[in-house]
Amino acid sequence: MKLHWQILIAILLAILVGIMTVPESAIYEIYDFIGTMFLNALKMVIVPLIMSSIISSMAGLNHGDSLGRLGLKTMAYYTMTSLLAILIGLTLVNITLPGIIDGQPAGDLLNLNTNSAEVASTLSQVEGRGSKDLVEIFVRMIPTNIVEAASEGQMLGLIFFSLLFGFFMGRVEGRRGEVLRDFWKGVAKTMVLITQFVLKFAPLGIFALIAKTVSATGFNAFEPMLVFLFTVIISLALHAFIVLPLLLKFVGRVSPIKQIVAMSPAMLMAFSTASSSATLPLTMQCIQKRAGVSRKTASFVLPLGATVNMDGTALYECVAAMFIAQAYGLELGFITQFTIVLVALLTSIGVAGIPAASLVAITVILGAIGLPLEAIGLLLVTDRILDMLRTSVNVFSDACGTVIIAKSEGESWVLNQDSEVVEAVGD
Ligand code: ASP
Repeated sequence: MKLHWQILIAILLAILVGIMTVPESAIYEIYDFIGTMFLNALKMVIVPLIMSSIISSMAGLNHGDSLGRLGLKTMAYYTMTSLLAILIGLTLVNITLPGIIDGQPAGDLLNLNTNSAEVASTLSQVEGRGSKDLVEIFVRMIPTNIVEAASEGQMLGLIFFSLLFGFFMGRVEGRRGEVLRDFWKGVAKTMVLITQFVLKFAPLGIFALIAKTVSATGFNAFEPMLVFLFTVIISLALHAFIVLPLLLKFVGRVSPIKQIVAMSPAMLMAFSTASSSATLPLTMQCIQKRAGVSRKTASFVLPLGATVNMDGTALYECVAAMFIAQAYGLELGFITQFTIVLVALLTSIGVAGIPAASLVAITVILGAIGLPLEAIGLLLVTDRILDMLRTSVNVFSDACGTVIIAKSEGESWVLNQDSEVVEAVGD
């Protein structure tokens, strides 16, 4: 059975089973155990997989020209789609006004003064590395210690180092250079094999993760926030099923349907893990094996995308900040809305691809427009489900960017081939 069907069935079964499971029961602990093992295995492969694939493909990119061109295209695509996503969210939240009930700010109704101890503990969890400050997020792009960056999962710093390492390794001449390049190619190949092995367990791991989430959160908590929930869901859907497919069709000249089918296992995995970093190994597999993008393009564009390009996150941050501002009765003039858009764009670039990372970014936005941080407590209620959805959109957008850029680099076979060609090229 195809991987995406296996994963889909696992998710449906998990929802059924999850509803019947009592939180903190023995079965719940088993889901937790299996889910954590699976996530650990994914996290284990990320650093060596990404480093070796970036290093070995950078070394092959010999011309300064093609590198600069690839970099520019990547940045242009990522900034543009994130901005489009934010604008969709902004438009919808201005229409649906989730923070206003019967013409009045809904602050009291929503009981905005939620337990601040809980808020504080969540923040310390998601933050992990104290990256509250916007500037700080970017300063970390150049790591002072690459081992520390690797152990803390700071992907941006690692990517930066790997790009440099690969670039200069390509310039080492003679036998030394050859041995080095051969070595890194071998490491990259080994990591691909390990990743394939880990991904064999994807349906089981995903089953456990979803069953655990469903049994822990249930569905009742969402009611008071339905308008907000639907505003985010509809905006995400517009972006993923209209804007990105239009870009695929008219800029990339590929079939959006084929792209959705090719990337569906990665999107389902993103949905289950709520982490674009943890999904990256599978995204890499899908983009090469199922969509047929070359390793050279995929290993430059995708890891960067998983770290800096978060359309769903940017959109969510904007809608959430607007929602809270409406609920507090804040005057939402042009300056405030512009600030929200700008900070949402910047923080979506800087936050890590881990669950609930947006909450940290939203505190930065709330600070920037002068609102108290307590409101984060309210967002916690719907955060998990929206996190799952926005992470799928994040991953899909990275994949669309990779395909569009690959096509523009002359990879005419992308999404337009029989599977044997894909196997050969993608590898
Ligand atoms: N969970 C998201 C991701 O990994 C980030 C976020 O929006 O919280 O892509």
